[in-house]
Amino acid sequence: MVVEPERVSVLKPGPPPRGDYILYWMQHAQRAEENPALEYAAAEAARLRLPLVVLFVRAPYPSATEAHYRFLLAGLVETARALEDRGARFVLCRGDPPREAAALSRRAVLAVCDAGWTRPELAWRREFAERSACPVIRVDGEAVVPVEAASGKPEWSAFTLRRKIEGAVAGYAGRISPAVDLPRDGRGLDIEGPRQLPREPDGPIRPGYPGDRVPEQTALPPPGPSAAEARFEIFLDTRLDRYDGDRNDPNLDGTSGMSPYLHFGQISPVRLARRVLERGGPGAAPFLEQLVVRRELAMNLVRYLPDGYDRWEGLPDWSRRTLEEASGDRREYVYSREDFEAARTHDPYWNAAQNQLVRTGTIHNYMRMYWGKKILEWSAGPREAFASALYLNDRYALDGRDPDGYAGVAWCFGRHDRPWTGRRVFGTVRYMNASGLRRKFDADAYARTWAWA
Ligand SMILES: Cc1cc2nc3c(=O)[nH]c(=O)nc-3n(C[C@H](O)[C@H](O)[C@H](O)COP(=O)(O)OP(=O)(O)OC[C@H]3O[C@@H](n4cnc5c(N)ncnc54)[C@H](O)[C@@H]3O)c2cc1C
Repeated sequence: MVVEPERVSVLKPGPPPRGDYILYWMQHAQRAEENPALEYAAAEAARLRLPLVVLFVRAPYPSATEAHYRFLLAGLVETARALEDRGARFVLCRGDPPREAAALSRRAVLAVCDAGWTRPELAWRREFAERSACPVIRVDGEAVVPVEAASGKPEWSAFTLRRKIEGAVAGYAGRISPAVDLPRDGRGLDIEGPRQLPREPDGPIRPGYPGDRVPEQTALPPPGPSAAEARFEIFLDTRLDRYDGDRNDPNLDGTSGMSPYLHFGQISPVRLARRVLERGGPGAAPFLEQLVVRRELAMNLVRYLPDGYDRWEGLPDWSRRTLEEASGDRREYVYSREDFEAARTHDPYWNAAQNQLVRTGTIHNYMRMYWGKKILEWSAGPREAFASALYLNDRYALDGRDPDGYAGVAWCFGRHDRPWTGRRVFGTVRYMNASGLRRKFDADAYARTWAWA
């Protein structure tokens, strides 16, 4: 079997109709290599001796800005080339993804989609399954341990999920999704209907928000599967061994930088885990803790709390209660969302983190925790703080709008954590302060690096 059965779910059962091709509607897994959904579709195409059509629909996505679309489209140019080299027909169009995919399903024998667990992604897949003219299969290739096989309920913490999946990681990571040969060349197939787009971004991309800050986003990482691969190889060769210590120093380039590529599916998490296991050494276990346990805990949150992962009401009862009880506490500083957005606080460390976010599209993980905790401390109340942190993360983070982002923000408000000693504003939610940063690393050097030039 080309894909482990636990990755496969039937979204629409039924006998396959007669048709001209197998359809893969690519949404989350935007890559041509080690993509289990693609290989499942390719294997069906090979079995039935039919061509393979791969569709990507460019659509308005909540919170996405021009920077996100540029990263996505540049990656797709590379992916399209690789798919065509294999003989697949690649269709890029603009529109409503489930409707466009359903239109192409009318000539398909079978449709395959990849997995995505956020509300918009789930709604798209649900609607596609309703509208599709042929059976629909979903393949979850974006987690090392498939999300629904890992756990059937919301997990309390990393500890509870780790216990369930740690024994399975090496087995899943060791498995390569082989590139299946396509016996029929689909490149000449005539596909009617969708408003197909040219490969290169066609002029200005309409931003999701007014007032985008593209000119300030000067240090975004290079997009695409090859860039991801090149960066990861450097990480393996030069940083993995020191990962456990260096990952907590925001002045060092000690982490993999894979989060934007994972978010856009430009690299396979299974491939990353396998390469790390093959390489071994002292950094392997701490890295897999982040890539598998923490990342998949975030997916578990989004999968099993679909209406709550990004809403105040979805936070744990204990943390909402304690934060509400503390909401009348006097705050030393109160900033509006606009102040935060413009990095206009009294704290050079916080401002540096916000500047890093705008310029590079990510914040170092250690500073990301501080950044979120201080939004809670310096907003008028905890609900406003939660909404502002999500807004800023989704808008400016290249890896935002992702389960990791929702879990990271929710962690700052108590999710996947336990109660600590009570204090002003935070109640029993864990607190962080600037002297803690200074104890851990040279926080002033960090502030200087990211001070607005
Ligand atoms: C307030 C806040 C907001 C966050 N927002 C995002 C976000 O929008 N998108 C995002 O991908 N991550 C987010 N994180 C999690 C984490 O900060 C990033 O995943 C990490 O910094 C990415 O850098 P890296 O790829 O170099 O990580 P590495 O240290 O190299 O880790 C490898 C991979 O493991 C996963 N990972 C690492 N740390 C975490 C973590 N704490 N939780 C879950 N998965 C993790 C990521 O997929 C990462 O790419 C957030 C954390 C906090 C506290």
